[in-house]
Amino acid sequence: MPYRFTFDLSRIPRFFFTELTTAAYQRGMHRKVSKTVQDIIKTFKIQEATGLNLSDAVTLLEDLIDAQARNLIERERFVQTQRRALLLPHCSRKFMDNRCKASFDPKIPSYICAHCSPDCQVGKAEVLAKKRGYDVYILPGGSCIPKILNANHYEGVIGVACGEEIKTGVETLRAMDISGQSVPLMKNGCANTAFNIENLSKIL
Ligand code: SF4
Ligand code: SF4
Repeated sequence: MPYRFTFDLSRIPRFFFTELTTAAYQRGMHRKVSKTVQDIIKTFKIQEATGLNLSDAVTLLEDLIDAQARNLIERERFVQTQRRALLLPHCSRKFMDNRCKASFDPKIPSYICAHCSPDCQVGKAEVLAKKRGYDVYILPGGSCIPKILNANHYEGVIGVACGEEIKTGVETLRAMDISGQSVPLMKNGCANTAFNIENLSKIL
């Protein structure tokens, strides 16, 4: 399910992500978070940059911190896994119309990237992950995840998605005892969305 608000954090200074990581680490260690979410929102002028009201900005940052905290807690187990998959969201494709030359295979279910655009994030992520031995899926929605996971026996799964979809995915992975890592979208909206490819590369 998408957020009921849209945001774009793709131009926020990199230091913002360092602050989020620090907060996530403290949360993962069950320590008191030194800077509150409201402090971070104020310091980085998140409301001005995104146009979000305070409550939505808090929801967004809490989800980003929780996702990062889960990554940290799960990291050790994840690196031990052998058979892995990367789940990418269709909304980060460069094109959402027929300029995207990917075909869709409902049997998997996944788009099959045709690598039509060298600057497409999904295309780049697919190449990166396949080089590292991952199976890659480009999903039209989170409801495809159980079918893919039931048909394969992955030990580790990385999901790129908005915070709401990550939460649903985490529950699915937990129920199947699969180790997970996530990369939250930095720009949502269900079309022309964006994620940080360097962040994905580190997690892969
Ligand atoms: S690179 Fe792949 S996913 Fe991106 S627009 Fe082209 S076919 Fe679609
Ligand atoms: S932003 Fe992307 S990942 Fe999130 S619900 Fe919309 S299509 Fe799915």
